[in-house]
Amino acid sequence: MNFNNFAFHPHINAGISKVGYVTPTPIQARTIPPILAGSDVLGLAQTGTGKTAAFVLPMLQRLMTGQRGKLRALILAPTRELAEQTHVAIKELGGQTGLRSISIYGGVSTVQQKNRLRTGVDIVVACPGRLLDLKNQGAIDLRNIEILVLDEADHMFDMGFLPDVKRIISAIPEKRQTLLFSATMPAKVHELVTKIMDHPVTIEIDIAKPIDAIDHAIYPVDQVQKLDMLLYLLGEHRSNQVLVFTRTKRRASKLAVQLSQAGVSSTSIQGNLSQSQRQKAMNAFRKGKIKVLVATDIAARGIDVMEVSHVINFDVPDTADAYTHRTGRTGRMDQTGTAFSLVTQEDLPMVHAIERTMGKSLERRRVNGFDTILKESKKNNTVHKNSRMSRSKNRSHYQPSAKHS
Ligand code: AMP
Repeated sequence: MNFNNFAFHPHINAGISKVGYVTPTPIQARTIPPILAGSDVLGLAQTGTGKTAAFVLPMLQRLMTGQRGKLRALILAPTRELAEQTHVAIKELGGQTGLRSISIYGGVSTVQQKNRLRTGVDIVVACPGRLLDLKNQGAIDLRNIEILVLDEADHMFDMGFLPDVKRIISAIPEKRQTLLFSATMPAKVHELVTKIMDHPVTIEIDIAKPIDAIDHAIYPVDQVQKLDMLLYLLGEHRSNQVLVFTRTKRRASKLAVQLSQAGVSSTSIQGNLSQSQRQKAMNAFRKGKIKVLVATDIAARGIDVMEVSHVINFDVPDTADAYTHRTGRTGRMDQTGTAFSLVTQEDLPMVHAIERTMGKSLERRRVNGFDTILKESKKNNTVHKNSRMSRSKNRSHYQPSAKHS
């Protein structure tokens, strides 16, 4: 299977060649045909599967015919980063099409966004809050929307955007094509699907399971040892760019300072930063000027850095889904990735929940000088017995080897 099978317009094929895609990913192979046929599509796919191009390419194809400069496609995204990243994907894939896209999100002045809208655009990628503001000010006309995409609908719900999304939907024509992408399907999102979609074709790609290209392991620690363990792991592993997750914004900024003091180039992104500060931090990380980016779950949404070699959970996440999202930042496409978690005794119930979701155990690794032993009750150990944990049992004073770097 290659992209020629879809018979895209030559200007779209030119964009695909330019970005270097050769083979469609599974979500692309399965969603592009029904989208081209005009169906509503519900795509259950986690981040890193290629879902952006799965909706952008057929959307561009549809927009190739019809009036230009009229807003016909709207993509809603939960975060500015994701909106910006999708806008960039449209610019790259649609570079030859002459179709115009803009991104709209809060935290920056509305003036430029309004000016761009006035000049006529075909596609808007927006965060719900700012889009509603502009709509209420009469600065955006949603009456010609033919395609609506809701990206990362589960995050949209997590972040409390569903009421805004519903308001936006009530302002766009009922006769339209609706595409919804979500890694998970909480009840609220399911309810939305049944309300706003018309007999959607449902395509599910490995829902809520971290991709196999990732090597997962946990390192037992006491809370006070976490910084030392992180420094050890950063030193031991030939890691390129590392994304470290903390539970809170405060811990993220504190940790970035501590790492810098220890000689590891690092910065943090958290919700408190202005848009330009976030962009600056992201760019420095993307370009490899900074080795470690420390982030919270919310701040990390939409981060797309192909070079992330390691995701390290300095703090274990609150849900198994969050673990999937965090670790999905590494091992993208045909790269392999590594996901480490620093685990205290209190984190064990969450580790077991993650293992149940994944259907396999996370390898326990111990390091000389870090003596913490997790007390695991027998009844929780069923997953571990059959899998990698039993193989690693004898490595009580395990030294990471190049294989794991
Ligand atoms: P996404 O899930 O849309 O965030 O995509 C994850 C990454 O995969 C992005 O960096 C895309 O540029 C890349 N990608 C998407 N589709 C393909 C493809 N068919 N071949 C190679 N890379 C792709």
